Amino acid sequence: MGLRLFNTLSRSVQDFVPLDPAGKKIGMYCCGPTVYDFAHIGNWRTFIFGDLVRRYLEFKGYTVQRVMNITDVEDKIIKRVQETQTPLREFTARFETAFFNDLKTLNCRMPHQTPRASEHIPEIVALIEKLLARGLAYRTADGSVYFSIEKYRAGGAQYGQLVKLNFDEMRVGERVRSDEYAKEAVADFALWKGRVPEDGAVFWPSPWGEGRPGWHIECSAMSMKLLGPSFDLHLGGEDLMFPHHEDEIAQSEGAGVQLPGGRFVQHWLHGAHLLVEGRKMAKSLGNFFTLRDLLAKGFTGREIRCALLTAHYRETFNFTLEGLQAARAALARIDDCLRKLRELAAPAKEPADPPLLGQFAEALDDDLNVSAAWGAIFEAARETNRKLSENAMDATAAAGALATWDRLDSVLGVGAPQEVAVPPEIQTLLDARQAARKARDFKRADAVRDELKAKGWVIEDTPKGARVKRL
Ligand code: AMP
Ligand code: ZN
Repeated sequence: MGLRLFNTLSRSVQDFVPLDPAGKKIGMYCCGPTVYDFAHIGNWRTFIFGDLVRRYLEFKGYTVQRVMNITDVEDKIIKRVQETQTPLREFTARFETAFFNDLKTLNCRMPHQTPRASEHIPEIVALIEKLLARGLAYRTADGSVYFSIEKYRAGGAQYGQLVKLNFDEMRVGERVRSDEYAKEAVADFALWKGRVPEDGAVFWPSPWGEGRPGWHIECSAMSMKLLGPSFDLHLGGEDLMFPHHEDEIAQSEGAGVQLPGGRFVQHWLHGAHLLVEGRKMAKSLGNFFTLRDLLAKGFTGREIRCALLTAHYRETFNFTLEGLQAARAALARIDDCLRKLRELAAPAKEPADPPLLGQFAEALDDDLNVSAAWGAIFEAARETNRKLSENAMDATAAAGALATWDRLDSVLGVGAPQEVAVPPEIQTLLDARQAARKARDFKRADAVRDELKAKGWVIEDTPKGARVKRL
């Protein structure tokens, strides 16, 4: 079975067919962070979802070009830049660096390109000029340029493809300047915002005077520059459907740069939001977590990644610290199984469990059904543990099982745990215990075992000898 994904455009699960006639290359654009603060774990749910899509496409043998923009010109940023009296680049650099560090901590593959809006002003201006030339945009007295929804619709295009919109209340030419607005406030939106005092030093020259781009046009310009006027996948959180993605479609298709009949984007994917303890995340509710908040509580990047990958991307996910503990326990079970396999395994092998790989792919082909994929993995881990405990697995089978896991983990990215270095003091005690056992001094051996336990280490006897692991 091939990959099937829900497409917000058609509101149905569709076969995923690449635009590339050879069926090999895939262009994918993910709306990236607005760098005015540290990304919170809700944002990370969406970014990890994007990473999962990319990794799974690569698992299936596609060559993916993943672009993720950095929104570094936007209303919220400019407000903060003004409040902190910091130059734009200096202000955004801090959060951009944090974002890339977090991306690594969560083991997301680095996108192939991460364009900054501030470095694409010429492309943005050129796109707005196209819209003006086609009569779909108009200038206002304050040096701004707006997109005319009326003209766009009059040309036969549909505004409101991702969400249903009610135009009854809309008055022609009514405008909205801010980047974010509700569905009920549908109106002509800003492509270029004429300079105002509140923008401070954030402005660029343009044919319409000094000003700055609106948020939506930034993504249209950057995505089409890097992926071409028509590409396969566009992805973001569900809040981006309107107005951001709706406006992207209108601008990009309104510019008429696609081949006849061609779409800006074939397949739109939207991830559902993350709630924390059943509620929307808010600093005032005390349930607002950035990645560093969770790391400070002692959780690791892989545990957080695993927790954020437990629910289907179209389901609202309720994040709790207990859920994170459960992810820790689940990973510990997998780690334990892998460790035993490594102790037994012969040198590297081909994956030995095609049925498991098949079940895994079948689950993810079905609109990325991660729950079913995890289910297959835990079932296999239980079975492997059973065989191991019955000594029913040989070195070759163990190596094959490990190779299978490597394939699965190329998609999940929850990685191998960092081997904990054994402190010399602990190693000395372990050696002493082994020496006592060899001398058949079991009393002494048990005493050392207890001493190790008191220090937080437990001895495990394995076919390759005794080792210690953290309690
Ligand atoms: P932003 O930095 O605000 O532009 O958001 C970055 C990404 O995070 C976007 O794709 C948003 O849709 C997504 N996002 C924002 N809040 C949440 C949330 N609570 N849960 C999941 N994704 C979110
Ligand atoms: Zn975007």
